[in-house]
Amino acid sequence: MYINGRWIESTEHTIEIINPATGEHVQEVAAGGQKETKETIDAAKQAFKMWKNKTGKERGQYLKEIARLMVEKKDVLAEAITKEMGKPFEDAKREILVAADYTEWYGEEAKRVYGDVIPASVPDKHLMVVRQPVGVTAAITPWNFPVSMITRKIAPALAAGCTVIIKPAPSTPLSAIEVFKCFHEAGLPEGVANLIIGPAEEIGPELTSNKDVRKLTFTGSTNVGKHLMRESATNVKKVSMELGGHAPFLVFEDADIDEAVKGALLTKFKNAGQTCISTNRVYVAESIAEVFQRKLTEKVAELKVGNGMEAGVDVGPLVNEQALEKVQDHVADAIKHGGEVLVGGNTFEKEGLSGNFYQPTVIANANESMKIATEETFGPVLPVFTFTNEDDVIERANHDRYGLAAYCYTKDMSRGYHLMNELEYGIIGINDPGPVAAQAPFGGVKESGVGREGGKHGMDEFVEEKFVSMNVKR
Ligand code: ADP
Repeated sequence: MYINGRWIESTEHTIEIINPATGEHVQEVAAGGQKETKETIDAAKQAFKMWKNKTGKERGQYLKEIARLMVEKKDVLAEAITKEMGKPFEDAKREILVAADYTEWYGEEAKRVYGDVIPASVPDKHLMVVRQPVGVTAAITPWNFPVSMITRKIAPALAAGCTVIIKPAPSTPLSAIEVFKCFHEAGLPEGVANLIIGPAEEIGPELTSNKDVRKLTFTGSTNVGKHLMRESATNVKKVSMELGGHAPFLVFEDADIDEAVKGALLTKFKNAGQTCISTNRVYVAESIAEVFQRKLTEKVAELKVGNGMEAGVDVGPLVNEQALEKVQDHVADAIKHGGEVLVGGNTFEKEGLSGNFYQPTVIANANESMKIATEETFGPVLPVFTFTNEDDVIERANHDRYGLAAYCYTKDMSRGYHLMNELEYGIIGINDPGPVAAQAPFGGVKESGVGREGGKHGMDEFVEEKFVSMNVKR
């Protein structure tokens, strides 16, 4: 753990990290509980007095140096990710570059936390809005993007002038430790960013109940997000939540089929489908369904499954046994409801590998009675539905619960514009399987969350607007 500028390497409790690809022990790390969390909040509160009064330019310089260090050490950071959660090493390196990109962008944006001057309606009054940091911020992050989820929260928070406590997922603290080594090396003043590792049941309640924590930012499951929102209501903290998703992927008859197949592969099988913006439902126009499914099946069959540290691997393990069981349950249920497995459909076994692997799978004849049509699978399984009518497919795509990302493939841009208007999602990719950028807002509507990460919109989550009305009559 890293608390108030000091490394804490041993405590009464430890957490064991297991490599999901091999089942092997990787490392034990020191863990804290309620007492350490309270100490960390106190340290962050103390540091806030100093950090908020630095200029944006000064804060930005630290962030830019951290970004530089992350790029320099990307292999070490990426290896930690692959060993603790399984994603292929090349994808882990890309994650580090994205994380560094966010950090650098907010390093630049730190200079631009502008306010407003508002014309008054009476003489001699002067109206201003100043934007100030919210205060001590708690950030709770998941295991699927263990580094980029940290920097997407820490970078805007530090840029705005907040101090931060990060609680990573208990299964992925190693890459978080590597990120904090960059913070330490960049000379970030003590208490400004702190890392607390340990069980959610002990750390979570202190973070939500402690009145000195003024902001909670969370990425994870919708159920935990709802719980944290309720707990944060006790002392009315500002919250932002990036929660579950169930992305539809619409392919119209005029789409470039090869591009759509490429997009479906990227949005479904990267990170073994364990991404909140992963495609969960493909809807393809009936007239092109056969050719689309044939091309898709061929490409999926070529994906290489294995240990993420091996060169050329496309799909790594699922994060643990429970994740695998959920995938198996969804596939069995889909078959029971008339689904046809075109490729995959089983666990993947090979000597030297753990039992956490599942074959990349495509299921045809998907229908709305299947669990997979409404529940997040979080695995490498792609169900294909068909449609004949645009209004009907929009209605089916507008899932009743989630609203994070939606993808559409069409060459008709007036249709693209109409879809952009009608789809009830926070992020829309039109012929684009990668709708994510440091300078753009990422986040969902409905039960997919509140608030945005990225861009100037992401900075708003860490500032309060203060209205000042002055009577300047002489
Ligand atoms: P996932 O299903 O992806 O593991 P979770 O929502 O369970 O997602 O976990 C995301 C993060 O939230 C992790 O850091 C986890 O430890 C943390 N977490 C889970 N439950 C709680 C809780 N009750 N209070 C605070 N943090 C929690």
